Amino acid sequence: MTKRIVVVGAVAAGMSAASQAKRRRSDAQLVVFEKGSDISYGACGMPYNLADAERSIEDLAVLTPQQAIEERGIDLHLRHEVTHIDREARQVVVRNHDSGEDHSEPYDALILATGARPRTLERLPHMDHERSLVLRTLQDGRKLKPLLHKDARRAVILGGGYIGLEMCESLQRRGIQVTIIEKTPQILPGWHTETVARVMEELKDHEIAVHTDETVVGAEQAEDGSLAALVTSSQKIPADLVLTAVGIQPNAELAAAAGLRIGASGAIWVNQYQQTSDEMIWAAGDCCEAYHRILRKNSWLPLGTTANKQGRIAGANASGESLRFRGIVGTAGFKVFDLEVARSGLSLEEARKEGFEPVMVTIRQRSRGHSFPGGAPVYVTLFADGPSGLLLGGEIVGKDGAVLRINTLAAALAAHLNVADLQGMDLVYAPPFAPVWDPLLVAANQLIKKIGK
Ligand SMILES: Cc1cc2nc3c(=O)[nH]c(=O)nc-3n(C[C@H](O)[C@H](O)[C@H](O)COP(=O)(O)OP(=O)(O)OC[C@H]3O[C@@H](n4cnc5c(N)ncnc54)[C@H](O)[C@@H]3O)c2cc1C
Repeated sequence: MTKRIVVVGAVAAGMSAASQAKRRRSDAQLVVFEKGSDISYGACGMPYNLADAERSIEDLAVLTPQQAIEERGIDLHLRHEVTHIDREARQVVVRNHDSGEDHSEPYDALILATGARPRTLERLPHMDHERSLVLRTLQDGRKLKPLLHKDARRAVILGGGYIGLEMCESLQRRGIQVTIIEKTPQILPGWHTETVARVMEELKDHEIAVHTDETVVGAEQAEDGSLAALVTSSQKIPADLVLTAVGIQPNAELAAAAGLRIGASGAIWVNQYQQTSDEMIWAAGDCCEAYHRILRKNSWLPLGTTANKQGRIAGANASGESLRFRGIVGTAGFKVFDLEVARSGLSLEEARKEGFEPVMVTIRQRSRGHSFPGGAPVYVTLFADGPSGLLLGGEIVGKDGAVLRINTLAAALAAHLNVADLQGMDLVYAPPFAPVWDPLLVAANQLIKKIGK
C-alpha cells in the first residue's frame, strides 16, 4: 500500500523533509500543506537582498512551487492551513484559505515543520501602522523593500539581536539613518561584554545610534496619518519606518492542542530521531527543540542550519529510516558592517546555570601572519570548566578571518574536548591565512595558564 506522508509547513524544515522522504521512498505520497503562498526561501539572505536596490526580493526563492510539484513529485498545497490533528484517526483537518472550506486528510506519517513567528509590539499605540514592520517571511520582505525604494529616511530598529544588527547595515546602505533600541542593558543579550564592545565600536564608526535599557511605549502618527516617531519611556525618536526584531516564538500550538509533549522552552519536544511524543509524528526546525551536545539535553536555538538538518532526518525517518540527529552546540555568526561576529557553545551565564565553574580569557591576535597585508586583530573569548578543563564555549570577533575560525571551536565542543586538546590542535599556519600561533591557540594557551592544568 502507498505510504502517505503529510508535511505541515513548506520552508526550510518542511521542504527538506518532504524532498528527503520522496528521495528515499519514491513510491510514497508526499503531501505538503503550507498556509502561506511561498515555499523554500532563504530568509537568511533577506538583509543582504534588502540592502541591494537592484536585486528582486523574489531572488530569495530557492525552489518554486512548480519545481516542487513537477521535479520533486511533491503534492503541494499552498494557502492550506492544518488546524487540527486527530492522532487516533491519523488524520489532519485542513482549511483551504481560498475556498474557506475545511476537509480531513489521512496520514500514515506526519511531519510538523510549522516554524516560528516574530514577537510583535502591535498592541502598543500605532505600532500596527503600515510602516511598522517585522522581518520573518518573504512576504515581510515584499512589504519592506518598496518602502526602502521610496521615501524612508529615518528608521528605528527595535531589538539589538543579530537580525536587528544585520538590518541596520542594510538600511544604512539604502541611505537611511538608523537608531537601535534595545530593552536590556546591552545589545546582543547573552553575548560576552568584550564582543559587545567591539560591535558597539563598529556601530559608532558607522554613525548608528544605539539606546539600551529603553522600553518602547508606542509610535506616534502625524496628522496626515504618516508615521512620525517611535516613543520610548525616556525619549521620542523621529522615524518614518520602524522594524521590530525582538525575537521569535515557536508555532507549537497545533502540536500542543493534539496533546504532543511540549518542552521546557515552549517548543515541541523531540527525541534525536526527530520523533515527537507520538511515534508516528515527527517535527523539525524552529517549531521544535534540538538536542544540545554540551548540555546533553534539548534546548531551543532556532536557526536555518538546524532546520535543514532536522528536516532531512525527519523526512528520512518518516519514510522508514532510523537516522539520528547528532545535535547542536549553539554555533551562530553574523556580520555587521566590516565586523565578523561568531559564537559557539554555552554563554557564561548558561554555563553557570548548568553547574559548571567557567574560567574565561579574552585575547587579541592578528588574523594573518606577521606583517602580511590585509590582516586585522581577531578577539577570542574562550571559556572552559575550571575543575575539569572541559571547553564550554567561545566568541570570536574581528574584521578579517573571524567567523570561520568558530568552526574549529564548534568541532572541539561537539567532541567534548578540553582546553588542552584545543591547545594541541594542528591548525594551519600560512601567512596569508593565519599566524604561526592561531588566535584560537593563543586563547587556549592563556586559558590553560589561568586554569592551571
Ligand atoms: C532576517 C533573517 C535572517 C536569518 N539569518 C539566519 C542565518 O544567517 N543563519 C541561520 O542559520 N538562520 C538564520 N535565520 C533563521 C532561519 O531563517 C530559520 O531558522 C528558518 O527559516 C526556519 O525554518 P522552518 O522551516 O523551521 O520555519 P519557518 O521558516 O518559520 O517556516 C514554517 C512554515 O510553516 C508554515 N505553517 C505554520 N503553521 C502552519 C499550519 N498550521 N499549516 C500550514 N502551514 C503552516 C508557515 O506559514 C511557514 O511558511 C534568519 C531568519 C531571518 C528572518
